[in-house]
Amino acid sequence: MKAEIIAVGSELLLGQIVNSNAAFLSVELAQHGIDVFYHVVVGDNEERLTDVLNQASKRSDLVILTGGLGPTKDDLTKETVAEICGKDLVYHQQSLDAITSFFEKRGQVMTENNKKQALVIEDSHVLVNHNGMAPGMVLETDQCKFVLLPGPPKEMQPMVVSELRPLLEKDNVTQEKITSRVLRFFGIGESKLAAMIDDLLVNQTNPTIAPLASEGEVTLRLTVKHYDPNVSVQLLDQVEKAILSRVGEYFYGYGETTLMEVVSKQLKKHKYYIAAAESLTGGLFSSALTSISGASEIFHGSIISYATKVKENHLGVPNKIIAENGVVSAECALEMAKAVKLKLQSDIGISFTGVAGPGTQDGKKPGEVYIGICGPNNEMAVHKLKLSGNREAIRQRTINYGCFYLLNE
Ligand code: ATP
Ligand code: MG
Repeated sequence: MKAEIIAVGSELLLGQIVNSNAAFLSVELAQHGIDVFYHVVVGDNEERLTDVLNQASKRSDLVILTGGLGPTKDDLTKETVAEICGKDLVYHQQSLDAITSFFEKRGQVMTENNKKQALVIEDSHVLVNHNGMAPGMVLETDQCKFVLLPGPPKEMQPMVVSELRPLLEKDNVTQEKITSRVLRFFGIGESKLAAMIDDLLVNQTNPTIAPLASEGEVTLRLTVKHYDPNVSVQLLDQVEKAILSRVGEYFYGYGETTLMEVVSKQLKKHKYYIAAAESLTGGLFSSALTSISGASEIFHGSIISYATKVKENHLGVPNKIIAENGVVSAECALEMAKAVKLKLQSDIGISFTGVAGPGTQDGKKPGEVYIGICGPNNEMAVHKLKLSGNREAIRQRTINYGCFYLLNE
């Protein structure tokens, strides 16, 4: 079944609201194994809506419209659908009663405009609106099935769940369902990762593999289609195994998991406490770590040693180290990690020092970053990074790399 979603509303074209209805409906349809081939946005204009509807009815089996069911003049979705299908609009008694009693209860007068909302396309199946006035409709024609839904998400979404979903389920009992699994990677660029699994990317059809890069991370979305959910899981497992046998060292989690969540879980598992000496990150690491619940079981605290004096006087980095190497150096990062571990009596110390930019510091360019780690047995490691991006991107990426190194040491 080929589906198309048409969002009606000039405010969408003007960029005043984002078309979240289409995203919601696409997810819903995917769960029923229905392919969505087009998202269309059209303004509140009868002629253009007619064009769009004519085109949709030719190329799609299921055409879902949202918006334009309200009482005002610019709401013309049902009028236009009725017109192209040669149908009349008739009053839907249950909706009319609901609207009438709404106004009676408030002691207000019901206008003709409001009454208009109880008009539905003749021969359509009515979808009750439990959160507003305008009912939805399903109209079957020779060419396709039209579904009309209200625009406000808080009316549209419950209507889909309670009214439309049962109809989709009935239509699709033997149909394939679409399931996705997202694998998350860090420490490898999109092109390198794609090259390492190129043959899988090219030859794999069920599941398909779609890479996506953002903020120093790469995700792979595996999408499988099968009517048996157990088989779907098996197919996903097989491809995941093949992918991880090549690039498993960069894999850190599924779905919406963040690197910090994985770090937090690992620390908890090993019963390790961590402390941080933060210079360029100014507390970002600590803030991200403590935003995850249960942080008190893994985090002792941090020393935000932004100024050189604080690095020396409060953290205890020897003056000689700083005089010889500068604060943006591997030597300073190591001393900071060692010192904070000791000072805050933790199992692991991590440090962040570097240049966030935009200016240079001690002749070092923005993006030069050092991350020091002092482990549970006082084993020391330091990582030098050359990061790109603006100040905030550099600081954020530094945190992500810090998490990545913690997981890999
Ligand atoms: P109303 O009775 O409120 O007029 P309606 O069915 O006529 O409902 P519209 O007038 O098209 O719907 O839109 C009403 C509001 O619903 C918009 O101002 C917007 O806030 C929200 N909305 C409409 N379409 C979308 C969409 N595609 N995605 C997200 N929100 C939307
Ligand atoms: Mg409206």
